[in-house]
Amino acid sequence: MLKNFFDAISNFFSSLFGNRAPKEQPSPRPVSEKDKLPDLIEDSSDVPRDTIITVNEMDVDVTGPFADPDKEAAIDDVEPAPVPPVVPTPVEPPPVVVGPATPSTDTGKPAGEPTPPPKPTHKARYLWCLDNGHGKLQAGKRSPLFDDGKTRFFEYEFNRDIVERIMKALDKKGVKYFDVVPDFLEVGSFLEERVDRANKKKSDLQKIYVSVHANAGPAPSAESWVSSSIKGAETWFAQNSTKGKKIAAVFQKHIIAKTGMKNRNLKSTAEKPLYVLQKTIMPAILTENGFYNNKEEVEDLMKDAFRQKIADAHVDAILEIEKNGII
Ligand SMILES: [Zn+2]
Repeated sequence: MLKNFFDAISNFFSSLFGNRAPKEQPSPRPVSEKDKLPDLIEDSSDVPRDTIITVNEMDVDVTGPFADPDKEAAIDDVEPAPVPPVVPTPVEPPPVVVGPATPSTDTGKPAGEPTPPPKPTHKARYLWCLDNGHGKLQAGKRSPLFDDGKTRFFEYEFNRDIVERIMKALDKKGVKYFDVVPDFLEVGSFLEERVDRANKKKSDLQKIYVSVHANAGPAPSAESWVSSSIKGAETWFAQNSTKGKKIAAVFQKHIIAKTGMKNRNLKSTAEKPLYVLQKTIMPAILTENGFYNNKEEVEDLMKDAFRQKIADAHVDAILEIEKNGII
């Protein structure tokens, strides 16, 4: 009885106020060019030119104290334990080995002669999340047709080749990495998946994200080459990431030193940041290694030896950061 009474009251009030739809908000602001941009900014060529901020990598102190910016403060950014110094093996008479001898002790030297200590193996400091940029199914991200009428440069192929070369070298050095997109032909842009995989990857090591790309300058059409002055390498970082900026500085330094490409310095933008730099919960950078719609530069990007230099430069940067750390 009482319930019926309350229901009646409730129905009365809802008949007065309950079903009012909120007034639709008019949209007084005209749609700007920036609004038309995709929400998922993939690489340098998607960023409006007038929003790009350039920093000279030589001005970045890669050894200075790291003030946690918002991005890194939000994550479990535990510094790895410092690498302990290599303690020399105490000089004692080597014990007699009973049982199967390991091959390295089988030096054939007379007993009692000190055996050189085994080569110290690298103690991994970081987990390098290596991102190869684009997939084969992705539209664009390819050069105009070459003069032979059949050849093009495909960015997905280049990025993957460079990352493959980096991984091969890191295997030899004992540096830990995570191949973010080993999937080959079936993937397109895959941006959210790339970020998701890296973010969810479990590791005791601190993670660093490196996305490898080649660049494209603004051209009248997909079949136009850009002016020969648009060339060179640049490295991107998220504007709110001090650590990312330092890592970018180390990579840019090595890429320029090793390849001799024109130095376009470090880049960032506050307007519509690159998706992988913004959404990864770890320090992240993106390298843009030359312009594939520059007719001269793309010739280099197709060469095996030049690709190896680009990969070696990335490895040099990784090894420097493995050795010194980024704080
Ligand atoms: Zn790209």
